[in-house]
Amino acid sequence: MLHLPNSVSLASWKAWNKSREWLVADSGNIYCSVCCEIYKTGFSSVKTTVGAKIKLNFIKGVTTDHMQKCQSVQRKQLLKKINKHAGSQTHKVCVQIKQQAMRNELEEALQQAQTVWDEANLEKLGATCKVFRSAYMCAEEEIAFVKHSAIMELHELNGCTKASCCIPTIHVQTY
Ligand SMILES: [Zn+2]
Repeated sequence: MLHLPNSVSLASWKAWNKSREWLVADSGNIYCSVCCEIYKTGFSSVKTTVGAKIKLNFIKGVTTDHMQKCQSVQRKQLLKKINKHAGSQTHKVCVQIKQQAMRNELEEALQQAQTVWDEANLEKLGATCKVFRSAYMCAEEEIAFVKHSAIMELHELNGCTKASCCIPTIHVQTY
């Protein structure tokens, strides 16, 4: 259940959230999900970059519920704080770190996929190579190409796997 600060209606919250997907609410407080995430993974690089200007308010939670003002004033105050956070050095550095981390993750995933592809195809290419070698042998020795399947069967009996190879579509004139 979404528990917003008292002055914020669901409609206002949705509008605020639309352009700030990092905005989250819990127990009457609002937080920045990006800053919280980076904070949890260690804040040292943010501390070094931002220095004394570092702000933890959107990590610890922001609310105006304690204010003795009318709701519209509270809401304006809250929006002001949100915009201030969006423009703060702390937030900007956290967003950069997150983007970099996502890029690294993507690159790692791509590399992983490439390795898996290479490994899978190494076996396939090896098997294809054997099929072609037999086909060339048929041609060189002037053996009828219809014998090729018999040779492949022999290969299989000798332990070469046919299952994973790319069977070439060879158009050879049969004798
Ligand atoms: Zn933030």
